[in-house]
Amino acid sequence: MNDSTVQNFLTLFSCCKVVKGYNRSTILDLQTQKIYIIPNSLGEFINKCKNSPYEEVLNCYNKEDKKTIKSYIDYLTNNNFCFFTETPDKFPDISTEWDHPSKITNAIIDISSHVHDFLYLNKQLSKLGCYSVEIRVFNKHDFSVYEKIIAGFNNSRIKQIILHIPYQVNLASSEIFDPLFFNQRLKAIYVHSLTKNIAEYSKNSVIYKHEKLIDASCCGKISRNNFLANIDFYTESINHNNCLNRKISIDADGNIKNCPAMKASFGYYKKYDFNDIISTDKFQSNWDTTKDKISACADCEFRYSCLNCQIITSDKNNMYSKPKHCGYDPYTSTWR
Ligand code: SF4
Repeated sequence: MNDSTVQNFLTLFSCCKVVKGYNRSTILDLQTQKIYIIPNSLGEFINKCKNSPYEEVLNCYNKEDKKTIKSYIDYLTNNNFCFFTETPDKFPDISTEWDHPSKITNAIIDISSHVHDFLYLNKQLSKLGCYSVEIRVFNKHDFSVYEKIIAGFNNSRIKQIILHIPYQVNLASSEIFDPLFFNQRLKAIYVHSLTKNIAEYSKNSVIYKHEKLIDASCCGKISRNNFLANIDFYTESINHNNCLNRKISIDADGNIKNCPAMKASFGYYKKYDFNDIISTDKFQSNWDTTKDKISACADCEFRYSCLNCQIITSDKNNMYSKPKHCGYDPYTSTWR
């Protein structure tokens, strides 16, 4: 082929995804799991380059804009987001489908004064192939209670357990938790409600925090620090509600729910086989409420990297309103 007929296409690596917001866009690098904020004009330029050779796209811009495009190319190449190729068809997009072999991927179990039967819960959750369990203890208990909870998962299909417990003076040293970590499913312990005169700290997967966790409504806080950019979270967010999808919860009273903060209950946990409950349309009714259906979030550049809490919402009568605990305004790109 004559050189003059070669058409070079600027192509984004398939692990890099542009998410357009109202004011600006993000590039999610699903391989390095980093999030980059870019102007919408760069996002538009990338999109144009998908369908037309680079030179052709460049010719659409005037002399002044071409300087900006040059800086965009430098930015994209310096960050390893893109490459030039004569054969873009050989680099198809990665699939955005999402699926998981487990009927339930994650569970939340809340505890106040009464402690549930964790042997029973482990059996039910293991049957569903549940991958991850978060146990949130609101009230103070003897250390032996925490040992009993974790021992309930000694034989289990569950891969990961996160435990939240309230601070007590006798729990001030992280070493006290060492026996619990013999169960290697336990990945982290968050000690909440730390007294203000002690600074937050973490050691050996024990994280001491001031934040209070007193009931199921203490949830759904949207923070930049919790944003995720990985293929699993991205594809689940595109197709489903990334918080409620394939989740089961047991609230502090022992009621089966999709999320513990929901009103809708599906009965006392010991009376039912969980598989019968989670297979119903009613239980799954919120699993597909993606951020694209939520006001404000639909225009937000973080919508596929941000947790989708649709239970604690800014308008409590409208589950399609923005999460109550989000301080970001996608129309001004500011955090409050
Ligand atoms: S506006 Fe919606 S998508 Fe954006 S950060 Fe807030 S909750 Fe997340």
